[in-house]
Amino acid sequence: MIEQPVLPSVFRMLARGLIRRCARCGSGHLYSSWFRLVTRCPRCGYLFDREEGFFLGAFVINFGVTEVCLGVVLAVLIGLEASGGVSLLPIYAAAAAVVVIVPIINYPFSKTTWAAIDMIMHREQVFADYPGPAGRIT
Ligand SMILES: [Zn+2]
Repeated sequence: MIEQPVLPSVFRMLARGLIRRCARCGSGHLYSSWFRLVTRCPRCGYLFDREEGFFLGAFVINFGVTEVCLGVVLAVLIGLEASGGVSLLPIYAAAAAVVVIVPIINYPFSKTTWAAIDMIMHREQVFADYPGPAGRIT
């Protein structure tokens, strides 16, 4: 009797991606350094970089998160400036810091989040193509 894998829920897969884990099996240790994603999941063997340009979606996620952070910081600082408390130089410095630091911090999270979104869009195929462990299902 062939045991069918139980698919994790969409929410669980997305949550795994958001915390830099494999959305399919929940395994960690997906990065050999902050910027270097392993080719395959060490637990289930899922191939992350499936085709050239695959991580364009991760770029869009990273860009969007950076823009939201920039918008929040600028709204706060412009509000303070409007009340007469802050000059323009700190606003420029904060904006520059946000657009440099946030994408660096968010880089690995955006890649695993995008991989999770892709897996969610192709759920049945992902679990059929990679018959390895699907992770703890609770
Ligand atoms: Zn995995």
